[in-house]
Amino acid sequence: MTDQVEVVIIGAGTAGLSALREVRRQTDDFLLINARDWGTTCAARGCMPSKALIEAANAFHRRHDFAAFGLTGADSVGVDIPSVLARVRTLRDGFVKGPEAVPGKLGSRALSGRARLLGPNRVAVEAREITARRIVLAPGSRPVVPKDWAQFGDRILTTDTLFEQTDLPGRIAVVGMGAIGVEMAQALSRLGLEVAGFDAVETLAGLTDPEVTQALRTALEREFPLYLGAPAELSQSGSGVTVTSEAGHFAADAVLAAMGRRPNIDDIGLDTLGVELDDKGAPPVDPTTLQIADLPVWLAGDANGHLAILHEAADEGHIAGRNATADATQAYCRRTELVIVFAAPQVARIGARFVELDPGGTAIGRADFSRQARARIAERAEGLMQIYGDAATGKLMGAEMCAPAAEHMAHLLALAMQHGLSVHDMLAMPFYHPVLEEGLRSALRDLARKVRGGGRFDLSDCPAVGFDALD
Ligand SMILES: Cc1cc2nc3c(=O)[nH]c(=O)nc-3n(C[C@H](O)[C@H](O)[C@H](O)COP(=O)(O)OP(=O)(O)OC[C@H]3O[C@@H](n4cnc5c(N)ncnc54)[C@H](O)[C@@H]3O)c2cc1C
Repeated sequence: MTDQVEVVIIGAGTAGLSALREVRRQTDDFLLINARDWGTTCAARGCMPSKALIEAANAFHRRHDFAAFGLTGADSVGVDIPSVLARVRTLRDGFVKGPEAVPGKLGSRALSGRARLLGPNRVAVEAREITARRIVLAPGSRPVVPKDWAQFGDRILTTDTLFEQTDLPGRIAVVGMGAIGVEMAQALSRLGLEVAGFDAVETLAGLTDPEVTQALRTALEREFPLYLGAPAELSQSGSGVTVTSEAGHFAADAVLAAMGRRPNIDDIGLDTLGVELDDKGAPPVDPTTLQIADLPVWLAGDANGHLAILHEAADEGHIAGRNATADATQAYCRRTELVIVFAAPQVARIGARFVELDPGGTAIGRADFSRQARARIAERAEGLMQIYGDAATGKLMGAEMCAPAAEHMAHLLALAMQHGLSVHDMLAMPFYHPVLEEGLRSALRDLARKVRGGGRFDLSDCPAVGFDALD
């Protein structure tokens, strides 16, 4: 059976559903094909269940601050892991309702099954073959698990399986200390499990600034051990698994594999497109158009390996969907890079990374949150913020931080950077008292002092007001 449609979208995650929205503005002649469940990675096993687990963990962890606040009863606060996990799934079930309703709404224009390209205009789904004028690929990514870990069976968890557990064992090793690994390791530790974190490199949560990384490491190591800088090996020990690296070892009941995610492009037929694939099997994709070379095929979301985060997947879906229904390919400006990791202290990275900066032309403003007044009042005083500016003009270039409520300050900085503001522009804005943003202002003032011309009065000069006495 061969069908013919204007546009085929492969993958109904955030990117695919965003593409769908754009395609539907222009045509009803489309087919949306999705393998696995329709709930999206974000809602079913990504952003949302992970944050639900973290909230429960942070709520339970708060008992450690009771004595400092003068509160009693911390010792009688307990955790019921099955109930925590049940709440995660209840919330998850609510979040997936919207995307899961999509195939019902689309009827025959939605198809469940694994799609494979047969060429730039042809797609196969099992016995069915579809010819399409344009194709949007949005197949997402999956957790990386080394092949030989299969021998440890269900002792190996990933974020695909973690939230499905009805209970958790007492000791969990987390291998991989990127964003997801750090979030999950700290959450599990805060829920009272014995946790150890391993990584082959010394970086944490995707940070590249060594001083911020060290500040985060100090904070995390107060809660659970980290064994960094050496690859971890697994071996069977009784009914458990021992994780060993040159940095240390840990006897675990289960291991959470958090070594990153692999784009789902290895089995999707990219080799039929006639373009050169790189050593990871990825085709050339223009990040402003999402087009693969000059083909009528677009690659959006986690699958293109650009930035595996939700708002970027959504943007890319919209760009791909627009271009797949446009007469001419349009390039779209991408947003200022913004990454947040929901650890405590929260981690954020905005704009240029530390490792991308020209050390000679960059000034760095710094704020130590261990002395920040509002953070001390809240018993959350830890962390470090570093803001990078052009040493000559003070133009804001980037920032890395681990600080309480970094998610909010990161958005302010992203807004400023996207609008090309300088440190002086930002300092001219109001800062209320007492707020955590006063810590951000400390880093900005430090930066202002270090750019050419040194520090100046925060307020800008008023233009003439038209009253002689005031001019
Ligand atoms: C634990 C975790 C926590 C996260 N936390 C955050 C966070 O806090 N903030 C944030 O911004 N991001 C977070 N992310 C990342 C975010 O979830 C992803 O960037 C986003 O969901 C990717 O969307 P996508 O559309 O590219 O892929 P997906 O949502 O995975 O959709 C891809 C779809 O394509 C289907 N598919 C694959 N191959 C085929 C095929 N051959 N044929 C048909 N269909 C196919 C898949 O089954 C899937 O349904 C997190 C991810 C994880 C795993």
